[in-house]
Amino acid sequence: MGMFAASEHSHFFCFNFSLFFIAEPVQWCEDGQNSMDKIYCSHDKMRSYGPWRQTSYRYGFFDRHGGNGIAPYDSMNVSYGVGDAEETVSANRRRVEEISGFPVFLSAKQVHGNEIYCLTKPLTASLEIEGVDALITDQDGVGLMIQQADCQAVLLFDSSKKIIAAIHCGWRGSVANIVARVICRMKDGFGVAPVQLQALISPSLGPCCAEFINYQNELPAEFAPFMARPDHFDFWQLSKSQLIAAGVRETKISMAATCTCCSKDYFSYRRACHLSNGVTGRNCSIIGMENVD
Ligand SMILES: [Zn+2]
Repeated sequence: MGMFAASEHSHFFCFNFSLFFIAEPVQWCEDGQNSMDKIYCSHDKMRSYGPWRQTSYRYGFFDRHGGNGIAPYDSMNVSYGVGDAEETVSANRRRVEEISGFPVFLSAKQVHGNEIYCLTKPLTASLEIEGVDALITDQDGVGLMIQQADCQAVLLFDSSKKIIAAIHCGWRGSVANIVARVICRMKDGFGVAPVQLQALISPSLGPCCAEFINYQNELPAEFAPFMARPDHFDFWQLSKSQLIAAGVRETKISMAATCTCCSKDYFSYRRACHLSNGVTGRNCSIIGMENVD
């Protein structure tokens, strides 16, 4: 079986977390209800959306700055699974809690699969679920955390049903169409209408750097329209296409369009492979909601 050149998934990697904290000063942006087109946040901000029917949402894509880690985990690595010191990761995660304002987090030991975990009861302590790549909840006050180094985090929320989801989507997730699976689960399990969903695609590997030299073995033929130039694929547009096919309105999809391999502000597995042995940290993407009655 062919391997992608220096793919971030050559070994199921994108899966851990890296928390990074947002550098000071921490700023909270109060978006209006119609400003989802500005949906993505820079590393030192989280955005709020709402309140909408007594619920407000906060979300943010943390970068690698503002944490306690040292090279190659400098500095806001949120993953316990990449070799960083546990106490450093814990301190970084506490920082994410402070910045985000969510007292507890639900995260996953991601495996580039397509399993989903649904949280439908209150969570009293942070929890990391083994072996899943997507999280759904209807619970206020819980931050859903995705950990990445080139993979996408796709964040979804439905203001009317008060349901959120966070998806870890690398190329294997794209092949499995995990985005459609999650939307299907939100529909069947929670009564979500896909047309009501807002969707955010995090900073991640861009078409500039997503080279897959063995794509003919790795990617299905239907991905061909997303080959931006020879051997390079546009997974941002691919995810957008999968969201639209699952019923999400194009006008409700926002993408950061920042390449984590090009930007030194993010951990990048692919860049780490180019420079050395691929050891690096993981950024985190967060979404949560709170009752504002
Ligand atoms: Zn790039």
